[in-house]
Amino acid sequence: MAFRDKYDFSLLMNDKERFVVAELEAQLKVRTEVCRCQECVLDMVALALNHTKPVYRVTLLGAIYATAEDDGLHTEVAEAVVGAIDKIYANPSHARN
Ligand SMILES: [Zn+2]
Repeated sequence: MAFRDKYDFSLLMNDKERFVVAELEAQLKVRTEVCRCQECVLDMVALALNHTKPVYRVTLLGAIYATAEDDGLHTEVAEAVVGAIDKIYANPSHARN
């Protein structure tokens, strides 16, 4: 039996995803020119996550959350999100409205 079939890898999650989504929501409040369709928002999250160091954990173990109180972590996420917004705004994967 392959590992893929034997174990539930959906229990793995990257804690940075929560931070990136929250940071994107905050930054888009003042970037009203940026498209917020499903495609663009997911593209921005994916791009920002690819520019941050992942923090994976197993959800079964419960709420052992990394905290965003770490300044270095917040700076990394904020910079990755700024970059992702600028890039997707300049090059959306759909025609501009
Ligand atoms: Zn869009």
